[in-house]
Amino acid sequence: PYTGPTADQILAKRKQYLSPSMFYFYKNPLNVVDGRMQYLFDENGRRYLDAFGGIATVCCGHCHPDVVNAIVNQTKRLQHSTILYLNSAIADFAEALASTLPGNLKVVFFTNSGTEANELAMMMARLYTGCHDIISLRNAYHGNAAGTMGATAQCNWKFNVIQTGVHHALNPDPYRGVFGSDGEKYARDVQDLIDFGTSGNVAAFMSEAIQGVGGIVELAPGYLPAVYSSIKKAGGICIADEVQSGFARIGSHFWGFESQGVVPDIVTMAKGIGNGIPLGAVVTTPEIAEVLTRRSYFNTFGGNPVCTAAGLAVLRVIEKENLQKNAHAVGTYLKERLTALKDKHEIIGDVRGRGFMLGVELVTDRQAKTPAKAETLHVMDQMKDLGVLIGKGGYYGNVFRITPPLCLTKEDADFLVDAMDYTLSKM
Ligand code: PMP
Repeated sequence: PYTGPTADQILAKRKQYLSPSMFYFYKNPLNVVDGRMQYLFDENGRRYLDAFGGIATVCCGHCHPDVVNAIVNQTKRLQHSTILYLNSAIADFAEALASTLPGNLKVVFFTNSGTEANELAMMMARLYTGCHDIISLRNAYHGNAAGTMGATAQCNWKFNVIQTGVHHALNPDPYRGVFGSDGEKYARDVQDLIDFGTSGNVAAFMSEAIQGVGGIVELAPGYLPAVYSSIKKAGGICIADEVQSGFARIGSHFWGFESQGVVPDIVTMAKGIGNGIPLGAVVTTPEIAEVLTRRSYFNTFGGNPVCTAAGLAVLRVIEKENLQKNAHAVGTYLKERLTALKDKHEIIGDVRGRGFMLGVELVTDRQAKTPAKAETLHVMDQMKDLGVLIGKGGYYGNVFRITPPLCLTKEDADFLVDAMDYTLSKM
């Protein structure tokens, strides 16, 4: 049993010693002390279904024994920086990771986070093309360092730092966007930005395939193929940010971009890659990778033995336990059940996403699509009391984000939907 400080004691310390900008979703934040696969346990041993673990990077399940063993064994043997010496962990993981990617995406750079991965990708694109302009999408989240904060496009996440060279294109959002689900129409805005906002040449286009922080927005069909073609004509590089949508989460494919039938020039990843261990990566072609030989480039902890041992274990677990198939099957079932709730509860404006990257948008008026922000928080709080943890996101904070560990079962899915149904019925 847990004998440490209580939630109240931790909260008091947090208020005094930790960043005042930290936020929590719940009125009474949980003190989670243990994790096992798709479940979390609080200080009293009460179990919660963690349907938002994906955001916190858990892909195979909390404390998955294979990943824990890989970490422990490597930690006992050696932890160091991989800048100066050879070590098999980084090489083996790079090889395994490259084998999951299409085409010539074969060279891996390791980082410690998604932000760092995207910063590196943007810099490589700028070096490779000799251009500065980058196009990203409104409603995107790409990180919180200077460059990536510039590419991020929601004022909620932006400070007043100097941000140069990023143009934000119309978001191809099928629910709220001006062109509905017509991906090619939105893509014309990118061509306009190139024609009227740049010299005609650009460094890169960067986007998620399904926006995570932005509230599970799946880019309108046909969007990425049309945009990639415009970008290539303008001499630019296409960057896919797979920090949330990668590693089998969307079920139908291993990588989010594959659902749009495109092949990027650079893919960035983090979160699920290490099942909770700080790890990120940039994968690109040998030709683009070459630009980093112009100067010295290194990252002290990027690709260290412990984190890459964890990464390799994650890939093996995804394969061994057929987690992509599970994300597809259970995710499809879960989406069907959530969609059925929409007929019953007027407050549900939209149900969307793929596999285990699902969103439910709450509105007080379906016609006007008025965000039901307070209701969203209320439902999350009530569901927590019933033992189900889900996330929220979107610019207006009115979208439930359901991104569980990939081992979620059909029974878990039923429990989640029943808890949501019950809570909405009581409102
Ligand atoms: N890209 C996307 C799509 C993300 O969701 C996030 C984190 N929410 C990041 C990049 C940044 O990753 P990190 O927090 O590891 O820096």
